[in-house]
Amino acid sequence: MNDDLRHQGMRKKLATGLKIKGIRNEKVLQAIEQVPRHLFMESSFINFAYKDQAFPIGAGQTISQPYTVAFQTQLLQVSKNDKILEVGTGSGYQAAVLLEMGAKVFTIERQKELYQKAQSFLPEIGYHPACFFGDGYKGLPHFAPFDRILVTAGAPSVPEDLKYQLKIDGRLVVPVGTEKRQEMTVIIRISENEFKTEKHGGFVFVPLLKGTVNS
Ligand code: SAH
Repeated sequence: MNDDLRHQGMRKKLATGLKIKGIRNEKVLQAIEQVPRHLFMESSFINFAYKDQAFPIGAGQTISQPYTVAFQTQLLQVSKNDKILEVGTGSGYQAAVLLEMGAKVFTIERQKELYQKAQSFLPEIGYHPACFFGDGYKGLPHFAPFDRILVTAGAPSVPEDLKYQLKIDGRLVVPVGTEKRQEMTVIIRISENEFKTEKHGGFVFVPLLKGTVNS
């Protein structure tokens, strides 16, 4: 698959643009500079891959805007070897960014078509997350606890199951709100039954939905 100097140059520009928009974590910016976002998109959109915009990936879903990916990843405070659960695999781009930062990634998707696509595509370009088909509302109890949990779809409220799949000191980043607007929320597990909540501004995500879609 083609990733040439022109693509690399466009990614450098994208990372510089994200820095200007307020992304300060160098490791996040470096990861954005590494991951070939154009390969995650339908070919007709390739010329848009390095604009700071969201795009359709099929099955009515979108690959998040790079700024949103960078903002969520920065809030997650990723360290090398962190065990991370991502809810909403979608194109697999966010999972690749986390892998690029040295994390161990478990990612779950409720739409079979997208799950299958990501599961076969990511290893082809050198990324190896553990991919799961299922309802991410419930998390992955058999693989818990996690250092970090990232939800990449908008939830009507904080999914309780996910809070309890965090390690102590673990962080859950989840957009919470209505279908039209969600508040970026960080939940930190400070003890067995105590959680701290931070709010980080408004975003618009596709909705976090219950159950699975089998086609
Ligand atoms: N992280 C993705 C963004 C995908 S958009 C990327 O980098 O491309 C959000 C995704 O969440 C969609 O693919 C949607 O199908 C999925 N989703 C919504 N509700 C879900 C749920 N309950 N469990 C798992 N995935 C879910």
